[in-house]
Amino acid sequence: MSRHIDEPSQTPQSGANPNCAYHQEDVERYYQANLEIENNRHHIKEAREEITELEHNRSVELFQKQVGLLQKRLVNDPKFFQQVFITEGINAIAWEFQQDELDEAFVHTLWELLLRNDDMSTLLLRFLWNIPLKFKRKFIRAIDKHLAERYPMFEGLSKGWPGQNNIPPYIRPPHERVKDFDLVNQGYLGYMGLGYSFREVELFVWLEVVRDKQCDDRPCELGLPTMDGGENEGGCPVKIHIPEMIHLMGEGKFKQAFELIKESNPLPNVTGRICPQEIQCQGVCTLNQRPIEIGQLEWYLPQSEKLLNPSANFEVKDVVNPWAKADKPPIAVVGSGPSGMINAYLLSKEGYPVTVFEAFHELGGVLRYGIPEFRLPNDLIDDVVKKVKLMGGKFVTNFIVGKTATLEALKRVGFWKIFIGTGAGLPRFMSVPGEHMNGILSANEFLTRVNLMKAYKEEYETPLPETKGKQVIVIGGGNTAMDAARTARRLGGTVTIVYRRTQDEMPARVEELHHALEEDIDLQILRSPREFIGNGKAHFVTHAILDVMKLGEPDASGRRRPLATGETEYIPADLVIMALGNASNPIVKDAEPGLKTSKWGTIEIKSGSQETSIDDVYTGGDANRGGSTAIKAAGDGQAAAREIAGEIPFSHDEIKSLVASAERYTKQGQAPKKILKKIELAEGIMEFVVYAPLIAKSARAGQFARVLGWEKGELIPLTLADWDAEQGTIDLVIQSLGSSSMKINQMEVGDVISGIAGPLGLPSQLHPYENGETVVFTAGGVGLPPVYPIMREHLRMGHHVTLISGFRTRDLMFWAEPDERIGMLQAEYSDLLDVIYTTNDGSFGIDGFVTGPLEEMLENMKAGNGRPIGEVVTIGPPMMMHAVSDLTKPYGVKTVASLNSIMVDCTGMCGACMVPVTIDGKIVRKHACIDGPELDAHIIDWDKFLPRFLQFRKQEDENKSRHGFD
Ligand code: FAD
Repeated sequence: MSRHIDEPSQTPQSGANPNCAYHQEDVERYYQANLEIENNRHHIKEAREEITELEHNRSVELFQKQVGLLQKRLVNDPKFFQQVFITEGINAIAWEFQQDELDEAFVHTLWELLLRNDDMSTLLLRFLWNIPLKFKRKFIRAIDKHLAERYPMFEGLSKGWPGQNNIPPYIRPPHERVKDFDLVNQGYLGYMGLGYSFREVELFVWLEVVRDKQCDDRPCELGLPTMDGGENEGGCPVKIHIPEMIHLMGEGKFKQAFELIKESNPLPNVTGRICPQEIQCQGVCTLNQRPIEIGQLEWYLPQSEKLLNPSANFEVKDVVNPWAKADKPPIAVVGSGPSGMINAYLLSKEGYPVTVFEAFHELGGVLRYGIPEFRLPNDLIDDVVKKVKLMGGKFVTNFIVGKTATLEALKRVGFWKIFIGTGAGLPRFMSVPGEHMNGILSANEFLTRVNLMKAYKEEYETPLPETKGKQVIVIGGGNTAMDAARTARRLGGTVTIVYRRTQDEMPARVEELHHALEEDIDLQILRSPREFIGNGKAHFVTHAILDVMKLGEPDASGRRRPLATGETEYIPADLVIMALGNASNPIVKDAEPGLKTSKWGTIEIKSGSQETSIDDVYTGGDANRGGSTAIKAAGDGQAAAREIAGEIPFSHDEIKSLVASAERYTKQGQAPKKILKKIELAEGIMEFVVYAPLIAKSARAGQFARVLGWEKGELIPLTLADWDAEQGTIDLVIQSLGSSSMKINQMEVGDVISGIAGPLGLPSQLHPYENGETVVFTAGGVGLPPVYPIMREHLRMGHHVTLISGFRTRDLMFWAEPDERIGMLQAEYSDLLDVIYTTNDGSFGIDGFVTGPLEEMLENMKAGNGRPIGEVVTIGPPMMMHAVSDLTKPYGVKTVASLNSIMVDCTGMCGACMVPVTIDGKIVRKHACIDGPELDAHIIDWDKFLPRFLQFRKQEDENKSRHGFD
């Protein structure tokens, strides 16, 4: 196109057409006469005479014929004419661009033409995209000068354009956005909220694109080579063809640009918003002062499509359901974060039947439970899920690989290859004094409560620590810290981020830190907590003592090491959120001895491959890298998909049978958790038999399940009281205590429990006792159901068991009749089982607490009478377990407490179930859901542990009264 500028065009000429064989004058006279009549002028008579005379004039006849021919051609080939007019028009515009500056009228006309969004405007965009930079500058100068009144964002745009100036995306003002969880960075489409039309916004986007230098070496896509020859610096981990994308947008071909992106990245609407572009594509942009807003362009394309045609993203042609076609073997994907999602998408697209197994009840991984909606709306994650489903992908939620089934079990049921995308969900803590206190929690827990469980919304059940009007400190400098801080700010807290290095070393996305500071969040750099101080017995944090730091020599990360100066500061803190990064969750690793992991617990891969040490098992994302980024996770998922789709070693029939088996298993996993039976055991105590075949298949004594009663409920841990692998059922016993248990107990046979995950926790360790020792169980109230399967296992092993089962009163007793569980065990194991009942009010059995008969047994043992005690297992109210622990300690009898602690995700990803234990005189954190639920009762620091149960008392009471339960 630039050629037109260098070779000045002819402006449209008037006058005789040299190719015509008629006299122009005659034709003009003839038309003038026609006009006279049409316009009803005075000389109608004369005009008629003239027409009659000229009608038979040869020139006029010839002209009429040619007009007829042209009309025919116009009907048959309209493009020809369009082209003629367009070429003429473009020539005229090119001529304008040759003037010193574009004049005001021309700029207005040009802009109006661009706004028309027709073929002409597309052509103009292409023309402007292709002209040399000096002319583009002229255009930008002109819109700055002549259109700034209409478009304030154009004002000053020409200064330093294209390298130092651009139209930024629309960011909501801080005072407005801190009041809600709505999207902060609204991108270019955000300008529509200010009254601009869609086409105007499209032109703003195009104006950003026009800044592109059209570099040949594509650093934004490929990155820059590093000195050490390692992985390129920057670039796009999923290799979006960014230069082509920009080129297509530059030419006004937005649809084609979107099609291009989709080929390499099924989640542009997500990655475009959260990628650390400043260290990837934009970090190596040759416009280094103000790189092209590649991330914004990336998500503009799908979002604008979505806006114009909400179903456009889901219009897929010719998809054959891979499960029905069954010509490729099934693949299992573990985890639904970005690595798993992209893997599932690409493999489904390739025709593999894929099932994604996800531990949570919702899909998306950190994108959903970590990143808040003000950065990434959940409906975008739903879109990704929908796309995977459209390709035939299936999802099983509440399925924890390593617990519900092992990798080997998945292979056995038909899955040929497995991708592990389990992330790095285990929060780190600092191990400083006072860290066990109430009011100190991990960012994972805080964000899970807010983002996943919507705890801040009245209609949701999950409690949240109070933030309104509180001093909140967030420890850390990454994205998680920013998200936690900005969330706490929105919940009414006065927030301070405490970071041990300086702002330059902060790993958070620059934009997030910038937004946090704009939102009045304080940043304390070169500070690190040394100790937390609380308010005595309640163990609620009130202050933090911070070490003042300085920077030393660089450490392994290349960043300067923070060193304590010896100086300290004392700051108030009502809530402390630890955002120190995550380690790998050990669940999969612990269940798979053959899976090689690094010393940090990350899953190792073979060099140049995504395959793990187990054949046909692949991994990527945070599970392999440790805490990394969404786009790197997506890149790994993509690379693994390419590897997985290798040569298939099965016959047609074998594939069909694998697919059928994997599909059956998937269906079992998806089966609604229907209540099949409900038995009232005592007032406020219900037993439910629920259909949950895969949990029933894997359950072991001592394990529990995570239950979400209803969609807006709370995740609560409930011990597995029993299970029947053949019938595919599990038994849950629930006492109405809090609002959640009360509401679940109102459910009836036929109702469906929204979600049950399990079996969770470690099974009971069943030590062999061969010298006639008795294993003593002290069960308090509904501690009996979890005790039941463990004692049954001991009895099956031939161990002697003493059950001391305590109830407040006789009316609350259950399972004691001969045709009930304990009664039946007594009948079956009459010589191995002793049962002692106690009631606090003396209405049945021994008057008093379970500790009474236990003490007697301990004393007898000490005196050399009766059976020696192998171990004591105590399950029930925490105060009872504490008392039992204190009682047995002086006798040196091994005592295990099964802790039904405060939990959220129940798989270790939030850290809520922290149990402070003392090992070698030091307080160490254990987690009931990973290390337990059974823990050595004698090392539990009960004084520090028990106050944790009071943490949410206020919110719990509020919930109860909301449901009318008070
Ligand atoms: P994840 O997203 O962690 O997903 C893993 C999934 O596996 C989870 O759904 C989990 O429930 C499931 N799972 C775990 N164990 C099992 C099991 N045994 N069985 C079944 N399922 C299991 N990155 C960015 O690029 N930009 C950001 O702005 C950004 N902000 C972040 C903010 C926060 C608060 C956090 C925590 C992280 C942030 N990150 C960000 C990092 C980014 O989110 C992660 O790098 C990315 O999500 C990793 O993807 P993944 O697929 O490896 O795992």
